[in-house]
Amino acid sequence: MRISIITLFPEMFVGPFDASIVKRACERNLVEIRLINTRDFATDKHKVTVDYPYGGGGGMVMKPEPLAAAIEAARQGSEGTKCVTVYLSPQGEPYKQDLAMELTQYDNLVLVCGHYEGIDERIRESLIDREISIGDYVLSGGELPAMVLIDSLVRLLPGALHNEMSWKNDSFSTGLLDWPHYTRPEEFRGMRVPDVLLSGNHQKIDEWRCRKALERTWRVRPDLLKKVQLSEQDHKWLAELRRE
Ligand code: SAM
Repeated sequence: MRISIITLFPEMFVGPFDASIVKRACERNLVEIRLINTRDFATDKHKVTVDYPYGGGGGMVMKPEPLAAAIEAARQGSEGTKCVTVYLSPQGEPYKQDLAMELTQYDNLVLVCGHYEGIDERIRESLIDREISIGDYVLSGGELPAMVLIDSLVRLLPGALHNEMSWKNDSFSTGLLDWPHYTRPEEFRGMRVPDVLLSGNHQKIDEWRCRKALERTWRVRPDLLKKVQLSEQDHKWLAELRRE
């Protein structure tokens, strides 16, 4: 997978992509991340990439010419591959785990980061395939959303995590929240690890984990239960939880 990030602030990506899973995935050639500076595509002497909005009002708008040239350069070589151009925007479709999963199917992902008031509407209309929002709040730029998106989808690529199973049971991947996790020591400040996890009985451990994931989802995010296919056993556990 190749991810091209179109940004006015490429320096923002240096720290986050220089550590942990994204760094390892790049080293293993599971993903290639390219930073494309919009400013490099401004053709005037002062490398202007923003301008005042028509109609007046505060804020600046990202100019269409350098952005269009940057997007077209990013897409070069992607002919015949699965390619999508995404504008990170608070007005986009909400970013969820299933959308992260869907994006892993692309060979070429072009991410456009806006800044200031955003990008000229004509870029949106002519060159953007999808708009994605990471939440109902407004950030100063699309750089942090692009990092969120990349981190969440790179960990889904085969070979990115040491243990593939770890994301398969993550919150949202199963439709529920994850179950509680414990590690050594067996007792910490008077709190013991649940006996079942020390029992060595894997059937009982699986059962306990499924019940805990269901319980946590029911308590914290009951809205998720409406979208997930529950088993007969899940319904029994839910009935027990409601009685407790
Ligand atoms: N005027 C725009 C609006 O109200 O819809 C907000 C512009 S925002 C200050 C600047 C840039 O940050 C946007 O162009 C977008 O790229 C990015 N951005 C801000 N919030 C975002 C969010 N929740 N999800 C994705 N991108 C976001």
